[in-house]
Amino acid sequence: MKTGLNRIGLALGLALGLGLSATQAMANGAWGGGDLLRRRFADGREYAIQIVQGVAQSPFQETRAELRDWISAHHAELVTDLAQSMQVWTEASQGTCARTQYRAAAPIVLSFQTCYRTSSTEDAAWLLIHESVHHFNIVDEVFADEIAGAIMKEWKAAMLKEMPICKNQNNVVANGLLGSWEAEMDLAMRMNPEAAAKIDYAELSFVEDSSAAKLFTGMGQCAFLAGHLELRMRLREGEGFTTKIERSPFVLVEHNGTTVLVFDEDLGARPGRIDYHPSYLQLARANEAKDDLLFFGGDHGWEPHFPFRRKR
Ligand SMILES: [Zn+2]
Repeated sequence: MKTGLNRIGLALGLALGLGLSATQAMANGAWGGGDLLRRRFADGREYAIQIVQGVAQSPFQETRAELRDWISAHHAELVTDLAQSMQVWTEASQGTCARTQYRAAAPIVLSFQTCYRTSSTEDAAWLLIHESVHHFNIVDEVFADEIAGAIMKEWKAAMLKEMPICKNQNNVVANGLLGSWEAEMDLAMRMNPEAAAKIDYAELSFVEDSSAAKLFTGMGQCAFLAGHLELRMRLREGEGFTTKIERSPFVLVEHNGTTVLVFDEDLGARPGRIDYHPSYLQLARANEAKDDLLFFGGDHGWEPHFPFRRKR
């Protein structure tokens, strides 16, 4: 299926000299519109597993007893079923996006024609939980909806109380951020001369620690990554220099369609209290990881970014 997006992707790929022939690119299936949909459901399955695992200890207080009992009795098996059910895509039209049989780990047949309405990973996760409920010989559509709805509602409540981790292997920043970065001064002079004039040296390090996410409550979302950051800077001051070292817990979340680093405004200076400070963050992967670039932005989208490269 050669969609408009596919053609743009191909043109871009060729212009960038990726050296893939058109047939290879089609075979790799990286750029088709349908492939994005497939990706969304593959991510949706990962997310669904994290959601169901994430509510394992939840009270389901506002869920009626029949649903609560069903969830608690089938919780572990539901996770297994989500992981084992294959997704089979069809070009044929079907009444609903997904169809499946009433037996454990039955394949889920998804239709390109109807599934395009599923516009987010979260929607895909909801749908896949619903389908997995059918695998426990639940024929009643309303009951399957209610189970999926109750689990999603509990997940949202859990996200307000504490911040769960939702790993996503396609989030570029989350998957490249850990480690140490040093200011790329040549590029900084071009991108952000005002800041570059003040900074003699800067180094940023990120260490993973999922428990750091628990400090960030009330945000109603999950984090791609959590941990501790350290910023070391040598600043020009008159004729001399001053050195600054700052440390803070952080989470990496989605905001306005972009990945945002949230850390403590006071960089951990007041234990037990977090003042949320956001910074837009971009990461550009290079051919080799050592050449990756990290762009550290401000707390508004329009502010200039400051470039870093991996520390050598
Ligand atoms: Zn159904």
